[in-house]
Amino acid sequence: MSKKFECVRVVIRCRPLNETEKKDGRVCIVNMDTKNGQVTVRNPKIVDEVPKQFTFDQIFDTQSHQENVYNSTASPIVESVLEGYNGTIFAYGQTGTGKTHTMEGKDDPPTLRGIIPRTFDHIFERIENMAKNKQFLVKVSFLELYNEEIRDLLSKNIKNKLEIRENPDTGVYIKDLSKFMIESPQEMREKLLHGRENRAVGATAMNQDSSRSHSLFQIIVETNEMVQGQSHVTVGKLNLVDLAGSERQSKTHATGDRLKEAININQSLTTLGNVISALVDNKSQHIPYRDSKLTRLLQDSLGGNTKTVMIANIGPADYNFDETISTLRYAHRAKQIKNEPKINEDPKDAQIRQFQEEILKLKQQLEAS
Ligand code: ADP
Ligand code: MG
Repeated sequence: MSKKFECVRVVIRCRPLNETEKKDGRVCIVNMDTKNGQVTVRNPKIVDEVPKQFTFDQIFDTQSHQENVYNSTASPIVESVLEGYNGTIFAYGQTGTGKTHTMEGKDDPPTLRGIIPRTFDHIFERIENMAKNKQFLVKVSFLELYNEEIRDLLSKNIKNKLEIRENPDTGVYIKDLSKFMIESPQEMREKLLHGRENRAVGATAMNQDSSRSHSLFQIIVETNEMVQGQSHVTVGKLNLVDLAGSERQSKTHATGDRLKEAININQSLTTLGNVISALVDNKSQHIPYRDSKLTRLLQDSLGGNTKTVMIANIGPADYNFDETISTLRYAHRAKQIKNEPKINEDPKDAQIRQFQEEILKLKQQLEAS
């Protein structure tokens, strides 16, 4: 059978100049040619330097709307997840460039809602329209990775550190991570809000710098379809990832715990970069997924069995030149990663069949009594 590879889709989004930048007289050095997917950046320090140009699958300029970004990045991935594929959408970029705006956005007005809340409505809209011949089970979990420590954002004990484990049949998982069964977009929204609150409270209690943490909101959709009297189970997993700021740490004069943190956070993002390089450079046999927790969690999304979109966020202002170029280079490399997405059929960890059998048993007991 021929293998069906699919490259990681990489898009760029540039936020507008903010009020402070305008007040400070900052100028925009980024030019976005949305029609041709080209981003051009000029060096504000060297006037006659040839501007650097990069081409991507798609680019979103400063005027782009949340709905538009959703429809052309996340929506096709969500459709695939409902068919039983794994999907990952991750936001990369320097702090303050719009990662959280893109992934979560604001609830009010609704036009500002980001990718995560939009997936909730999308998934349940589809489920309502299909429910007659198929049964669904939807579960969510929400975690944070800070300083190479994993915390469950939906647990009461936010301070507990969780461990990554591996099962020979079902792969990498997080021991004791809570998973909630969800029946409506409202319920999912409550989990997002709850996790967000926990994250803020935890960050204060543990004296964390929130720009240094990665978050992963995971949605699992199990489907059972009866085909000629046989049940056919598929499981799609959707990873929604808001990465820590990609800015270089060397300029911050961190010491002690803060330095350890900076190194560890760098470790996750550096390893992500190393994994990307190893995957792109065909000569490498060894892909260093195990060098950080982030890459272990995202292993399937990078060179594995997942449809992946990376949204690289940049700022438009002159003083961000170095970071903007660094993000564009990183993103450009990621474009070459090839994945091999396939439908997860009859996975051993699917719970839907087990629940259906229990329901059937209970029904029979009811009828008998
Ligand atoms: P990050 O998560 O990358 O640190 P944020 O998403 O918090 O950055 O964005 C920083 C600020 O810029 C926020 O106030 C956000 O509302 C604003 N912002 C980001 N992207 C956009 C955009 N595309 N349009 C308008 N405002 C934006
Ligand atoms: Mg953020």
